[in-house]
Amino acid sequence: MTMNVPELFGKKVFNDAVMKERLPKDTYKALKKTIDEGTHLQLDVANVVAHAMKDWAIEQGATHFTHWFQPMTGVTAEKHDSFISPEAGGSVIMSFSGKELVKGEPDASSFPSGGLRATFEARGYTAWDPTSYAFIKDDTLCIPTAFCSYSGEALDKKTPLLRSMQALDKSAVRVLKLFGNEDVKRVITTVGPEQEYFLIDQEVYNKRPDIIYTGRTLFGAKPPKGQELEDHYFGTIKPRVSAYMKELDEELWKLGILAKTKHNEVAPAQHELAPIFSTTNIATDHNQLTMELMKTIASKHGMACLLHEKPFAGVNGSGKHNNWSISTDTGVNLLEPGDTPSQNAQFILFLTAVIKAVDDYQELLRVSVASAGNDHRLGANEAPPAIISMFLGDELEGVVESIVNGTDYHDKEKELMSIGAVVLPHIPQDTTDRNRTSPFAFTGNKFEFRSLGSTASISGPNIVLNTIVAEILDQFAEELEKASDFDSALNALVKRELTAHQRIIFNGNGYAEDWVEEAKKRGLSNLKSTVDALPAFISDKAIEVFTKHEVFSKTELMSRYEILLENYYKIINIEALTLISMTKKDIMAAACKYEYAIAKTINEKSATGIVGSSKAEKKKLETAAELVELMSERLEKLEADVEKGAAFTDAYENAKYHREVIFESMNSLREVIDKLEVLVPSDMWPYPTYGEILYSVK
Ligand code: ADP
Ligand code: MG
Repeated sequence: MTMNVPELFGKKVFNDAVMKERLPKDTYKALKKTIDEGTHLQLDVANVVAHAMKDWAIEQGATHFTHWFQPMTGVTAEKHDSFISPEAGGSVIMSFSGKELVKGEPDASSFPSGGLRATFEARGYTAWDPTSYAFIKDDTLCIPTAFCSYSGEALDKKTPLLRSMQALDKSAVRVLKLFGNEDVKRVITTVGPEQEYFLIDQEVYNKRPDIIYTGRTLFGAKPPKGQELEDHYFGTIKPRVSAYMKELDEELWKLGILAKTKHNEVAPAQHELAPIFSTTNIATDHNQLTMELMKTIASKHGMACLLHEKPFAGVNGSGKHNNWSISTDTGVNLLEPGDTPSQNAQFILFLTAVIKAVDDYQELLRVSVASAGNDHRLGANEAPPAIISMFLGDELEGVVESIVNGTDYHDKEKELMSIGAVVLPHIPQDTTDRNRTSPFAFTGNKFEFRSLGSTASISGPNIVLNTIVAEILDQFAEELEKASDFDSALNALVKRELTAHQRIIFNGNGYAEDWVEEAKKRGLSNLKSTVDALPAFISDKAIEVFTKHEVFSKTELMSRYEILLENYYKIINIEALTLISMTKKDIMAAACKYEYAIAKTINEKSATGIVGSSKAEKKKLETAAELVELMSERLEKLEADVEKGAAFTDAYENAKYHREVIFESMNSLREVIDKLEVLVPSDMWPYPTYGEILYSVK
């Protein structure tokens, strides 16, 4: 059976084409205006849209609708309502009103709010985001919505993202006006998130409570074959995985998601999917849907999809590359060098703004990717370090250097270079020597922020990126608007700022040891763990920039900070409890059984009086006994540590305690378990090993 992709694509989406076809002309126009310009939608228009949406959804087999939203849990939430409405005589009709489309009132008391919503006013509300199309999933019409408290505070990941896009829009349009771009009405940010994941066999998954409860293995000795040979990267895709990827593509396409590339990643059982970029808001919704489908489709194929940042210690973790750019509604990518000197001057100003933003707000970018899961990855094997730095590539680096040094990029003889007159070198978009170790790399016409963890919503990092770049563009506009001579003011500004922010540019190996030293000398921050990073989120600087651009109010920031801390220590707590339970229940028993078996052998050997001294067995028994003692001690310590952890009332102190004490305590228990795993015979070891898990999909 061949697949007709163009026919399939967007089949389950109430997209522009469907709207155009099904809505009365003036309704379509009014809705389009709301979508494009963010104007308010009248209730009578909403009623007509709702009616058409319902009819369309029912034709697609839908019986229910839901407001689909993104609370602070990081996953999406939905509460399904059927379309039925009772009629006289005991029958029902299918109905859906404009009011139901526009606003919902889920009982929201159980979503994290960081103290924002006292339980007596636990009701939040959801509000339709018409900029993201409604779609059908699981016979339900899903309406993308924002989620707020009744007093208007954002309780979700969509609201601040939309606000940050607005902030950037405003500032960028302001700057573009200075370059005479009067036709530009709107500037949007675009994102293409590359998503990494692992696939393992469902049966193996079912046997590992740690993966089930925490998403990662809490112990496991290194397999004899890991990723040393790098033979998995871009390798042939196994038939089972290929069938999975095909179905995933098909389902994503039906949802209008531009799934483009798929390949095997570096680690065994690791894969990647990348979509074609879209508007940040939509890319974020789509990435959430992609992660959800990755999981549900995996189980249909008898596999489990692991999205955790570090499912296996010592094996590559999973991240998400956030390819980010800025475009005008007239179709110009502002991070792409243009064809004319004036376009290039504009490009250089935007580039300078991003460089300054990343340097000035490096801590905020770091916070935006901080999580318990990503702590295992940042700075670890084959991953971006916790230090934020930028890679520009040889061509741009040359341009920046010539501006800083006041030399012409092409004609080194000329003393002064006017930005407005510079002809930029051609910047290839797929330079092969790209620096893969840089956390923030320029890749021809966009920046690739690579520190994101694989599980997290991409909302957070993009909120920060949009906001900080909006702030710097505003600062630049402020200065340039006042200038009497635009060209010389522009030259002076660019030169001054590029000179001031040289420290953030680093073209070397970001994974090398000496970079840590060098970065320290440069004064770059190196916030190693989530606990180290989080306070930056509520620093004066953060509060100032977020409130100024109306992305977060101070109350919203404080509540989010609480939620992030809470989330962090809860995750570590669950991990600790899981490890305790697995050790107590099965690992201890297996180790004792092993000891007993050797002891028995020694006894029986000596009883026969035939064979020698049992030297080998005695040695084994000694090692095992020592490890069992140690395991017992460390288990007891972990249990006591967990108990102490329950006493904390301050969220930060609690998070810090979990990082410094419980996390370390878990690691030291794990160390013993991994040693035992190597000793105990396979038929006695209660859990699948790394080798068995990583090579479980045949
Ligand atoms: P890779 O980084 O793996 O070599 P590419 O550079 O081809 O892959 O693209 C990576 C991602 O960047 C894709 O999702 C692509 O759609 C996205 N991308 C390309 N152009 C832009 C842009 N202007 N804005 C945002 N993302 C973009
Ligand atoms: Mg990439």
